[in-house]
Amino acid sequence: MKTPVPDYLDEVLDSLRDDTSGANADYIPELAEADPEPFGMALTTTLGRTYAAGDADTEFSIQSISKPFAYAAAIIDRGLDRVLDAVGVEPSGEAFNELSLEGGTHRPKNPMINAGAITTHSLLVGAEAGQGDRVDRAVTFFSRLAGRDLRVDERVCASELASAHRNLALAYMLRTYGILDGDVPSVVEGYTRQCSILVSVRDLSVMAATLATGGIQPVTGERIMDPATARHVMAVMAAAGMYDAAGDWLTRVGIPAKSGVAGGIVGVLPDRVGIGTFSPRLDSHGNSQRGRRAFERLSRDMGMHLFASDQGRLDAVDVSESPDTVTFALRGNVQLTAASELLDLMADSNGPADVVLDVTRVHSFSDLGRRMSLEGLRRLRLDGRRVAVRDPSGVLPDPDLGDGSYPDAL
Ligand code: GLN
Repeated sequence: MKTPVPDYLDEVLDSLRDDTSGANADYIPELAEADPEPFGMALTTTLGRTYAAGDADTEFSIQSISKPFAYAAAIIDRGLDRVLDAVGVEPSGEAFNELSLEGGTHRPKNPMINAGAITTHSLLVGAEAGQGDRVDRAVTFFSRLAGRDLRVDERVCASELASAHRNLALAYMLRTYGILDGDVPSVVEGYTRQCSILVSVRDLSVMAATLATGGIQPVTGERIMDPATARHVMAVMAAAGMYDAAGDWLTRVGIPAKSGVAGGIVGVLPDRVGIGTFSPRLDSHGNSQRGRRAFERLSRDMGMHLFASDQGRLDAVDVSESPDTVTFALRGNVQLTAASELLDLMADSNGPADVVLDVTRVHSFSDLGRRMSLEGLRRLRLDGRRVAVRDPSGVLPDPDLGDGSYPDAL
């Protein structure tokens, strides 16, 4: 059997291929002259399966899509508090190359705009690091995320550096306010090299899937960042990844994302997928025109929206009865919703003497979900019932009912 996913992705690309509106970025000569036609898309699940369509292996410079990943590296290298001292997490509502500083602290508003990203780049590795160290850090970190060795496109880098007056101006302002340390031209050059790392949509989808899993690269299995860092980075992408179109994107598409001026977009849905698209022509916000429309299609067709409610998730407890046993079967990730449903159903159960909590189809328990479920069993036992847990894969280790006693073996 052939999986239908690639056919679906091909169909999405075909339906958008004739949209030639927008234009290549014009302020970096190498990008202005790039072929505007390539169009590719890839999707990687949190289990590490990649589906690709169109120009999925064409390389292009990562540009601003480097920003969330460099931000993750800076948090790992310097700690979240140090990074937050230098760069905020508020949407700026302005274009990517505005200064957008916070009143009072003079911190750049967020790490997704250039001012914030140049500052983030300057924090890589440590206070004593030089340009080479920071660029190496970005290249190796991105390579581990992608699962292959990435490299810098020196032509794109030189092309941007030849007219990087605006980024230099932003960086000198930040230096004046004491937000940025060190030699300004060298920091801007390092940042520009970071933006010139070459990736494909396949790479982007795997890199994003690493955020979606909470920090584990789903193909190599390597833990690259802790879940709190992945969560923080995705949240900032949701708030500020699409610059002055961030609110429109979050409501319409609902997939935390980051775009780059070479035409790439990366998107991530926590616990589900990482997505990469590439098409060089940009809309008036500086986001890839066909890429944006491809994301809109995915969101609509596949229900891929952060705030899409999934009725299936609510129906998380099944109750079945035989003459002497009542079984409560949970499934999925048991948190407040499922556990409170379970407690309600348990409270209503006056039937058979023996009670089984079946967790065979549970993926995980939150702390609260675990405590509530075990507390339900404890109360049933206080009512004189025998209680047991069916847990073949051990998702509920050490099921202490909360009073030092354990379920019965039924
Ligand atoms: N290197 C680009 C710049 O700093 C990145 C901008 C972008 O991709 N939006 O201008």
